Parts: sequence; structure tokens; C-alpha cells
Amino acid sequence: MSPADVVVALDVGGTGMKCALVGPNGGTVRAERHPTDAGRGPDAVVDTILDIAEGLAGKARADGFEPVALGVAVPGVVDEAAGVAVWSANVGFRDVPLRDLAEARLGLPTALGHDVRAGGLAEARLGAGRGTGHVLFVAIGTGIAAAHVVDGSAATGAHGAAGEIGHILVRPGGPRCGCGRRGCLEAVASASAIARRYAELAGVTATAAEVADRAAAGEPAATRVWAEAVEALADGLATGQSLFDVETVVVGGGLAQAGPLLFDPLRAALHERMTFHREPRLVAAALGDEAGCLGAALLALDNLEK
Ligand SMILES: [Zn+2]
Repeated sequence: MSPADVVVALDVGGTGMKCALVGPNGGTVRAERHPTDAGRGPDAVVDTILDIAEGLAGKARADGFEPVALGVAVPGVVDEAAGVAVWSANVGFRDVPLRDLAEARLGLPTALGHDVRAGGLAEARLGAGRGTGHVLFVAIGTGIAAAHVVDGSAATGAHGAAGEIGHILVRPGGPRCGCGRRGCLEAVASASAIARRYAELAGVTATAAEVADRAAAGEPAATRVWAEAVEALADGLATGQSLFDVETVVVGGGLAQAGPLLFDPLRAALHERMTFHREPRLVAAALGDEAGCLGAALLALDNLEK
């Protein structure tokens, strides 16, 4: 690749899209954000994705760069090999052949990826997991999802659904999960579950970040809710370590903003659960909410090398 080559990268979320032009070394030369407006339906979202990608390619050329590939990360179940957005609860995709649509519109080789797997790829290669071969990236926000990255590539699973660590059963009979079952990890320890549980116990509403602060200040309900979440997360991560034996666990998403309020007790709780396992290094994500977009760029670059 020439130094003037760039890839167009988009990370499509339920509310917004992070978009960028990224150079061969992973450096961002231009970044934009756009609303997704998922309520308009999947066809309109696809049109917006293609318009933004085409627009960015045009801006690249106007600035003297050469757009050589496109990478798009989307949420839900994604068939990377077929380039199909199979299913998504928050964007409404049902079997959308996004890769073929984008290639037809832009004339650029296109890679389609999963948002959390793309974020994990970026954290493993450019962020907090840099320099380690085996990384588990766990994003904790409204839900909880993970990416298992080995030597710079994220496992997709047979059906594009690998990494659903949020649906590990940690509390049989526990709170109802969005998937319909009771006691999934994300029904106990996601930011939204923490807020819900605190409202239940304390009778007042607070965000997960506020619950963390109140727990640190010794407020009983917050202390209990935060401890429940940390214990459940440690159970989920211990299961992850049993399965994957990683060197580094990178925790990102909104909940990781709690910093030491999360990482100190979580590290201790995970340590307690290790028997014969080698304990992973537990670190906060480094790339923030740009990880998915950078990961989409990496997928586009990798795709060119194939
Ligand atoms: Zn579930």
C-alpha cells in the first residue's frame, strides 16, 4: 500500500455511526459521526451507510488520498464470510447482504464485521491488548458481549455468533434477560441491569456510574448491587478463562469508565475463582468508543492482504 492509501471504515450502532478514513498504519486521517436513526427501518439505514461510505471515499480523493477498501462493522449476528448482516435487534437487519451492496455501490473491496469483534480486534492489535497473542475483549454497556482474539484475528463461530458472553448463565432463576432466559450475565451485570436492580432496592433511579460512586461512598443498596454485579462478572470471566486461557482480558464499554471502582474488586474476585488456571491480566480498554471503527478499518486492510 502507498502512504496515500486509506480505507473507509464505519461502525454502525443502534443510535450512531462512527466513521473514519484510516491509513495503512492504523492512523485516522478523518473522523465523522452520524446518527443511525434506526427507527426508519433497515432499508433506510443501509442507504445511509452506503451514502456515508461513498461520501467519505469522495472526501478522501478530494484530500489527495486514495480510498482502496471499505470496512463496515454492525451489531447482532454477522456472517463475515458471506458478508451478510444476519440479524440485529437494535438496527433491524434481517439477512442484509451488506458487503455485496457496498461493493456494487462503491466499487471497493469490502469487509463486513461484527461491532464487538471489530472492537476486540482493534484493542488486541492497537489498544490495551497490544503485544499479547491471546486476548478476550469484553464490552459492558447496555448488554455484555465479547471477542476472543488470537494472533490478531477474532473468532466468529460457525454461525457468526461467537462471543456472546453476556448470555452465560451465572444466576439460575435470576433476573430475566433480554434473550428470554433467567440469570444470564448481562441480566445481572450490564450497566442497564445495575441501574434496574438499584432502582428496585433503593426505590430511586441512578445510572450504573452513579451506583459505583454511591457504593464507594458506602451506601448500602449501592454497595450490594455493585458487589452482585462484580461477583457475576467474575463468574463470567472465570468461565471465559476456562474456555480460552487468554493472556489479557480487556474490559471496555460504559461500565469500564468506573475505573478502579470496577477493576480492583473484579480483579480480586477473578483471582479467587482461579484454581489451576493461569490468571489473565485484567485491563481497561484503551481506544474508547472508536475501537469498533478502527476494527472495521483493520478488517478492510486484512481483506486487502488476502
Ligand atoms: Zn440472555
